[in-house]
Amino acid sequence: MREESCIFCKIAAGEIPSKTLYEDEEFRVILDLGPATKGHALILPKDHYRDLFELPDEKAAKVMVLAKKMAAQMREKLHCDGFNLMQNNEEAAGQTVFHFHMHLIPRYNDDGQTIGWKPGKPGDAELEEIRKEVTGK
Ligand code: 5GP
Ligand code: ZN
Repeated sequence: MREESCIFCKIAAGEIPSKTLYEDEEFRVILDLGPATKGHALILPKDHYRDLFELPDEKAAKVMVLAKKMAAQMREKLHCDGFNLMQNNEEAAGQTVFHFHMHLIPRYNDDGQTIGWKPGKPGDAELEEIRKEVTGK
């Protein structure tokens, strides 16, 4: 299951070369060409899913297990001080390549990167309204 015009389909299939850290039948893990930090990598499923909403449950579970394994390996080998997992869906959330991928971002003390947001200050009523909106209860 792949999409002809998708660059990550081609990379995952090995048709476009990449610096591969791990590969199995279902996934390839590659170094990001525009890394936030040393070792910034991406988990790519070999099948094409646009985003989290299209990713089957069984693949999603495997992505998390693989992320955990890669994070442990990178912490041991790269001696990073921390680790971010990040996964963007749709332009509004910063997605630029529309083939599901999970960012693996090793963090180093004083790496100068900021991956974050400006915290809001919702009151209890606002939080309760959102809780009801999401749960329908
Ligand atoms: P997004 O913004 O969609 O969550 O992340 C896309 C990521 O893919 C970016 O971090 C970008 O640097 C990386 N990227 C885009 N094109 C390529 C490519 O051809 N090869 C590799 N290795 N990374 C890419
Ligand atoms: Zn694809």
